[in-house]
Amino acid sequence: MYARFVIILCFTCISSVSWAKDILITNIRLIDGTGTPVRIASVRLRGDRIIAVGALKVMPGDSIVDGRGQVLAPGFIDSHSHHLGYLRRNPDALATASQGITTIVIGQDGDGLPMDSLQALLSGNRFAVNIASYTGHTMLRSEVMSDDDLNRPATDVELAKMRTMLSKEMTRGSLGLSTGLEYEGAFYSSRLEVVSLARVAAEFGGRYISHIRSEDLKMDEAVEEIIEIGRLTGMPVKISHIKLAARDDWGQAPRVIARLERARAEGIDITADAYPYTFWNSTLRVLFPDRRYSDTASARLAVEKLCDPDSSMLVRYLPEPAWEGRMLGEIARIRRESPAQTLLHLVARAAEYERTHPDVDGVEAIAGKSMTAGDVAAFLAWPHTNICSDGNAGRHPRGFGSFTRVLGRQVRESKLMSLEKAVHKMTGLTARHLGIRDRGLIRPGYLADLVLFDPDRVIDRATLEDSHALSDGIISVWVNGKRVYDAGRSTGIRSGRLVTRPVSVLKKH
Ligand SMILES: [Zn+2]
Repeated sequence: MYARFVIILCFTCISSVSWAKDILITNIRLIDGTGTPVRIASVRLRGDRIIAVGALKVMPGDSIVDGRGQVLAPGFIDSHSHHLGYLRRNPDALATASQGITTIVIGQDGDGLPMDSLQALLSGNRFAVNIASYTGHTMLRSEVMSDDDLNRPATDVELAKMRTMLSKEMTRGSLGLSTGLEYEGAFYSSRLEVVSLARVAAEFGGRYISHIRSEDLKMDEAVEEIIEIGRLTGMPVKISHIKLAARDDWGQAPRVIARLERARAEGIDITADAYPYTFWNSTLRVLFPDRRYSDTASARLAVEKLCDPDSSMLVRYLPEPAWEGRMLGEIARIRRESPAQTLLHLVARAAEYERTHPDVDGVEAIAGKSMTAGDVAAFLAWPHTNICSDGNAGRHPRGFGSFTRVLGRQVRESKLMSLEKAVHKMTGLTARHLGIRDRGLIRPGYLADLVLFDPDRVIDRATLEDSHALSDGIISVWVNGKRVYDAGRSTGIRSGRLVTRPVSVLKKH
């Protein structure tokens, strides 16, 4: 009995370590992520890495993937994602995989999880996508100052605590500091506080990424603030989901870009990310830049200058779920009042709901139409902008369609940029902007995050009405050498990992 048991055990060992076959992906057009022109080549994978690229011969034992003449590119890196909540419920990551994304970057807009919680989450629970994270400024504030006391700058003692916490996060592989200065949890922080924390991230060779203090009425000042943070800290700084959301600023993207170029010429490494939609998704309260939520003049300004009520959809509204899916202007007509009055009513009722349901998060959300296609295109095309989704699995279609939308609409239909350039803005450029090594290019030694797609067919299908519709044209997706998505379906393999800042970057002093 004993001998037989041993034999069976040995067989099991042999089959599980059986000579790991190389995967040879052939018959493809290769776009390697550097921005150089498409070329004919094959790619050999061994384990989780790319080991060869070029005119490769089939070797005995190779497992061959016939690319059928389609494009193989590095897996897309989403530099601004809110998909983690979705992944906890959907570890197969259809929302991201189906648009070709292989790495998401969370900890955005000042929020996020401590790195040890993230590590613990990923050690027990693999997802079909890699995850990297920034450390959120508002998360640090909440920890140190308590959630109901954030409407002020931090004291020196609190700031010292936050600096210590951030140092710890940086040693655990955080990419840097993220802020969401337009949101209430950080809006009242001083520039001194932000710079003091940013310096900690800089000392560790980290980066700064920011939802800046205003995307509408005080956009210029907010841009100056992030430029100044880059100047003072000397580290790369990035404007999150760059946009012009005030009607009076429409068409001004070239002026903003010229300002960013001047900062770059001065030696400040400032970049941006952007998503390809003319509407955002946030709270009703961001429509009140001066934070006077019951002021009629502010509400009027919001519906006249900051969003178009007839194309801005209330996508979440727990106090009155029947309003969900309706435009702000439509609700106003039903209620027989002006859009400004309706906005005031909705905000007040949501605040009341929050008071009576203190444990409920995300009481309301609006998809606010407030950008022009021209500005969106100009920002997407700026050579220092990489593509992001800013998405989750909510009612904004960006969570399922951002990357395929750029490939289908901006590249194929509008010819805003070449396919190679667009892929670069989703891969190699993004990795460089984030300080992520060994991903973002198809190159020997790099991790095998790959996407095979049909450039003639690729397109987003998600809309405000059907925000979870899967894209067309993404054929296969590999994460760390394993195929996680194929022919419109998840394969059930969850080979994503935590991606950290390279540990070789040590604190400078
Ligand atoms: Zn944001």
